[in-house]
Amino acid sequence: MNNPTTTATTTKRTKSVLPHQTPRLRDQYILGKKLGQGQFGTTYLCTHKINNNIYACKSIPKRKLICREDYDDVWREIQIMHHLSGHQNVVQIEGTYEDSVFVHLVMELCAGGELFDRIVAKGHYSEREAAKLIKTIVGVVEACHSLGVIHRDLKPENFLFDSPGDDAKLKATDFGLSVFYKPGQAFCDVVGSPYYVAPEVLLKHYGPEVDVWSAGVILYILLSGVPPFWAETEPGIFREILHGKLDFKSEPWPSISDSAKELIYKMLERDPRKRISAHEVLCHPWIVDDKVAPDKPLDSAVLSRLKQFSAMNKLKKMALRVIAERMSEEEIGGLKELFKMIDTDNSGTITFEELKDGLFKVGSELMESEIKSLMDAADIDNSGTIDYGEFLAATMHMNKMEREENLSAAFAFFDRDGSGYITNDELQQACREFGLGDVHLDDMIKDIDQDNDGRIDYGEFSAMMRKVDGGVGRSRTMMSNFNFNLADAFGVRDLTDTH
Ligand code: ADP
Ligand code: MG
Repeated sequence: MNNPTTTATTTKRTKSVLPHQTPRLRDQYILGKKLGQGQFGTTYLCTHKINNNIYACKSIPKRKLICREDYDDVWREIQIMHHLSGHQNVVQIEGTYEDSVFVHLVMELCAGGELFDRIVAKGHYSEREAAKLIKTIVGVVEACHSLGVIHRDLKPENFLFDSPGDDAKLKATDFGLSVFYKPGQAFCDVVGSPYYVAPEVLLKHYGPEVDVWSAGVILYILLSGVPPFWAETEPGIFREILHGKLDFKSEPWPSISDSAKELIYKMLERDPRKRISAHEVLCHPWIVDDKVAPDKPLDSAVLSRLKQFSAMNKLKKMALRVIAERMSEEEIGGLKELFKMIDTDNSGTITFEELKDGLFKVGSELMESEIKSLMDAADIDNSGTIDYGEFLAATMHMNKMEREENLSAAFAFFDRDGSGYITNDELQQACREFGLGDVHLDDMIKDIDQDNDGRIDYGEFSAMMRKVDGGVGRSRTMMSNFNFNLADAFGVRDLTDTH
């Protein structure tokens, strides 16, 4: 049976990528010189007309989008860029524009050129430099996988440096072939680029492990300057990928450490089930910087966001829910996929068991009690489960909430009478609506209320919202996070006890 709304969007979507109208790009930006040319898009320098900030604008001519799938692919690329935005090694998306001829993606400018060109210029890298780059690249892969995304097109052309200097940061740019996946899901489309494609892609049955393979190919190239699987023709390259032996005999391999070679072997393991995971690569001795204490591996993206959320006060949590409801489809599409992945029985709510399994699937091993306290923290209304709104509030990236229009909308939500202040009464009312019951908010207001007038003005509100809560700081250890969370968990219990 045809649902009328779906039909309407379907017809609309064959002519447009975005589900909404946008302002015109040229009203807000001036396009400058061409920066690069990809398969679909041409990238230009662009300048914001009002604040003069410079960005890169990837313009995709719609005539190149032949079928419905091509439109869906661009829409997915945009959603995935939003979904990963906030990672320091992923290019930030600034905005999207669409007219009858083009779709434009305005993003952070990377003025330092492609990793590919630096490899060509250098010949090859020292082990130390290569280790640093691979740590960044596999860090992006780990973030993708822990957020339910397979990149599928890792290669040095798709990593750009943000500035020309030697201290430039490397950024992943092109998510045009990336997809959302659920654990256990197998893909069969043969996509990617010849030298970097994993054997199981050629065999049309694969999952996230393909990204580690491609990163392994990049590592081999960084250290030696040549691809590990090489031939004159495409079928020849594929034959090498499926059956070829790794060459560790030619120059410069004899002088490269065994540890590096061992890591390459593990990344270029043909059986994806035996291949090392992104997370394990980051823990490998060759990657772990021996000057830094070999700390616990980083938390998965979901887990660190949940932890950060759990350290927030109640007002901030409620405000995030308000903001989550204002998010556009393109910004939250990725989190919606993630929610569906964790909500395995499709009930619309996440239970304790589902959260536990979900965190385990994205590579986090936690004790029951730790998961319980994260669950309690995300479950704003104390229903015992996490609903979609709560999930969005707890996992969306903080860079979204800090946007001025979101902050002022959230403030207006609490400031019912538009007086310019959030009062104790107004907060009580909001707490009731969020199912928090009757809570004592005096102490919390005191914390936020810098001028001690007993109410919260916009400046105080936005300072609280922008404040970094315990939990994200990468230098913080897991233990101190949990101390923080437990303190908060007790706070939560205090509030509910008075009910
Ligand atoms: P495609 O999906 O068509 O392959 P890409 O996203 O790879 O497009 O972009 C094409 C080229 O444009 C890149 O290879 C690069 O040279 C340039 N480019 C892309 N994004 C940026 C950016 N943020 N800053 C500077 N140049 C960029
Ligand atoms: Mg590209």
